[in-house]
Amino acid sequence: MPWIPRGLREGIVTTPYPRRPDGYGRGFRAAVAVRPGPHDRSRVGAAATACPTDAIADGADGPRLDRGRCVLCGRCVALAPEAFELDADFETAGVAREALVVPALPESDAAVAAARAALHRRVRALRRSVHVRHVDAGSDGAVEWEVAALTNPVYDVHRLGIFFTASPRHADLLLATGVGAAGMLGPLRETYEVMPEPKVVIAAGVDAVGGGLVGRGYAAAGGVGDTVPVDVWLPGAPPSPFGLLSAILLAVGLLPGGGHGTARGAGA
Ligand code: SF4
Repeated sequence: MPWIPRGLREGIVTTPYPRRPDGYGRGFRAAVAVRPGPHDRSRVGAAATACPTDAIADGADGPRLDRGRCVLCGRCVALAPEAFELDADFETAGVAREALVVPALPESDAAVAAARAALHRRVRALRRSVHVRHVDAGSDGAVEWEVAALTNPVYDVHRLGIFFTASPRHADLLLATGVGAAGMLGPLRETYEVMPEPKVVIAAGVDAVGGGLVGRGYAAAGGVGDTVPVDVWLPGAPPSPFGLLSAILLAVGLLPGGGHGTARGAGA
């Protein structure tokens, strides 16, 4: 019975998040942030050129980075460290696609606040417990590893009333991963259609948000947003279990503080 002394030695391993912050959550590469200017325009231009997914736009008011396209390769950070830095804050999900652009677009605040308020009114009934149906719509398997971790003793999402279900007819939340492979668009749509109301959709990972490195083409739809109505967009390649957990909590209105890019404090 080696687990008895091990259990006594290690004590409680389950994360205190979201009740309290957990430093372990900041050990993952979660996002790229744009540092305040001034920036070296030539280096920012070089970073934009080197970005494999065209996630960086260098405008007159400085660079903007679309986390919904960023695969976290780190090239921009290496080429222009005064402009870009890796960010460990995993609460990166947003209730509007434009909320993933940093620095935030001036016109996006009101739209994001309205989307968040409408979502939380719709899913109020799900706050005590939520059943999740995960659909892999053409993933490379990276996000699936992180999804599988959610039920282990470290994350233990059952303690928060979050359960996975095999049947879409029992599901409240559709967790979609993958690039939207042509062969999976029909099953993804059918899964959504048979779920009971109220229902909510999370596009998890940069592949599901915008197609990642695969993008849009004959074999993939460039994400799942054209197939099912996405309520919460979670970037990351892959998002960590903490990121996934924060997105689920955001989707059902239980994320303390509201997270980033989500119009903190907007009415629920
Ligand atoms: S880290 Fe993201 S934004 Fe930077 S170069 Fe890589 S994909 Fe582009």
